Amino acid sequence: MNRGPIAEREGKGIFLTSDPLIRPSVLMIARADLDTMVQHCVERLPNEACGILAGSGGRVEQVYRMTNARPGPASYEMEPAEQFRVLKDIRQSGRSLVGIYHSHPGSPAYPSGIDVEKAYWPGTLFPNYPGAVQVIVSLADLQHPAVRAYSLDEGAVAEVALKVE
Ligand SMILES: [Zn+2]
Repeated sequence: MNRGPIAEREGKGIFLTSDPLIRPSVLMIARADLDTMVQHCVERLPNEACGILAGSGGRVEQVYRMTNARPGPASYEMEPAEQFRVLKDIRQSGRSLVGIYHSHPGSPAYPSGIDVEKAYWPGTLFPNYPGAVQVIVSLADLQHPAVRAYSLDEGAVAEVALKVE
């Protein structure tokens, strides 16, 4: 049963493609897509990179490299117009937003306090991207990039298993 995007249901006029009820406990990603994501993050050094993962059923099917509108070694913000276009593209392709990724150029693959804060509408525990997994690519050891996935539901950080196919 498709209950529709939460923000639409609540009349906020913002399109969200995923549903919190189907947040996967495992995120599956093809080796090629994982490589695309890591390569994007390496190219953007020394700044953070960010992107969107689209797919269905907890499986990544497309990686969207996004423009970091606030580039810095410890900051990112997806360019809003580009984000709007990508979310529309995901919707039209019949996929869901399954994840958001960003890099940590010099720190571990674990959500920072700011990452947790940014996961919710200001002052609430209502997630900005309900159901989306947060993927963090750590390049602290450039020879061995670390990629981990998390859910940030209700203020708690929980790791989501990343299964590389
Ligand atoms: Zn971060």
